[in-house]
Amino acid sequence: MNSIIKQELSNIIDKSDKIGVVSHLNPDGDNIGSILALGSSMEKLGKKVTILKSDFVPNDLLFLPNIEKIISVSDDLNFDVLFVLDSSDAERLGDNKRFIEKAKYIINIDHHISNNNFGHLNIVEPKASSTCEIIYNIISELNLPIDSNIATCIYTGISTDTGRFMYENVNENTHLIVSNLLALGTDIYYVNKKLYQSRSLSKTKLFIEVISSSKLFFDNKVSVAKVTLENLNRANARPEDSDGIVEFLRDTETVEVSVLLKEIETNLTRVSIRTKEYVDANEICNKFNGGGHLRAAGCTIQRNIDETEKLLIESIKQYI
Ligand code: AMP
Ligand code: MN
Ligand code: MN
Repeated sequence: MNSIIKQELSNIIDKSDKIGVVSHLNPDGDNIGSILALGSSMEKLGKKVTILKSDFVPNDLLFLPNIEKIISVSDDLNFDVLFVLDSSDAERLGDNKRFIEKAKYIINIDHHISNNNFGHLNIVEPKASSTCEIIYNIISELNLPIDSNIATCIYTGISTDTGRFMYENVNENTHLIVSNLLALGTDIYYVNKKLYQSRSLSKTKLFIEVISSSKLFFDNKVSVAKVTLENLNRANARPEDSDGIVEFLRDTETVEVSVLLKEIETNLTRVSIRTKEYVDANEICNKFNGGGHLRAAGCTIQRNIDETEKLLIESIKQYI
C-alpha cells in the first residue's frame, strides 16, 4: 500500500461512523474471513459496523468467531463508507449491488487480476495471496485493533485461498503473516479440523456421485464434472456443498483444466475453472463475463448445463 492510499484510508476510517462491509456471491473462506476480520477490527475501534452477506455462508465456515454478526440485508441501510471485499466487480454482489449504487464512498479491497476498480478508493493487489493478507497488512500498517478472533478469520482466508499454502500465490510474506497470526492465538489444529476434516455426510455423498460421473476430454487433460439439481436432491446437499470437487479433479496427474458446472436453474449454469500449469483460467472466464485469477476463475452462463458443457469444451480446446 503506498503512503497516499494509506493516508486516505486512514482519513476515511477516522471520519466515518457508519461503516458497511459486504461479501460476494458464493462466498469462500477468504471472503467471509476478510469481512469478519475487517468488520470486527473497526468495531473494536468504536465504529458502528454492519457486516452484510450477499449469499449463504457455507457450513464449514460457520465456526468462525463473530459469524453471528453477519446479517442479510434490510433495505434502509445507509453507510458513510462501504467496504467491498474480495470482489472483482459490482456484479459479484448480486442484489447487494444496489448498496454500491447508493453508497457515498466505496472502498474496494481485492486481489483479483480481473478487478475493474469500481471503488472510489481501490486497493487491488493481484500478487497478494488473498484479500485476508491485504486486510492483515492494512490492520498492521494503520495500527487497527487485532485479537485472536480476528487472527483466526485472517488465517482462514489465507489458508483457503492458497489451497492450504500450496499455490503459486504463497510467498515468504504469507508465512511471516501466518507466524504473527499464530502468535496472536490462532488455534490452527482447531481451525484446520473445522475447515478440512468436518465435511457433512451429504457433501461426501454428493462428491462421490458427481466425481463418479465426471468425464475427461483431450487426452485426459480436461476434466468436466456436473452438479445438477437432481444430484443435490439425491444427496440432500446444498449448492455450496460442491465446493472442493473442482480442485479434487484438477489434482489428477494428467489434468490441466478442471471444470465444474453447477445447475442453478434450467437455463442458468455456474462455472468454476481450475488450471495447473499453462492455461489461463481468468482468460477463459472473461469470455463469458466472469473472471478471477490465473489458476482459479468462474462465470455464470445463461444456458442449460449440457449446452454450457459443449460451449466450454469448445472454448478450452484452443488452449490444450
Ligand atoms: P469459484 O470457482 O466460484 O470458486 O471462483 C474462483 C475464483 O474466481 C474466485 O476467486 C472468485 O472470486 C472468482 N470469480 C468467480 N466468479 C467470478 C465472476 N463471475 N467474476 C469475477 N470473478 C469471479
Ligand atoms: Mn472469494
Ligand atoms: Mn480471495
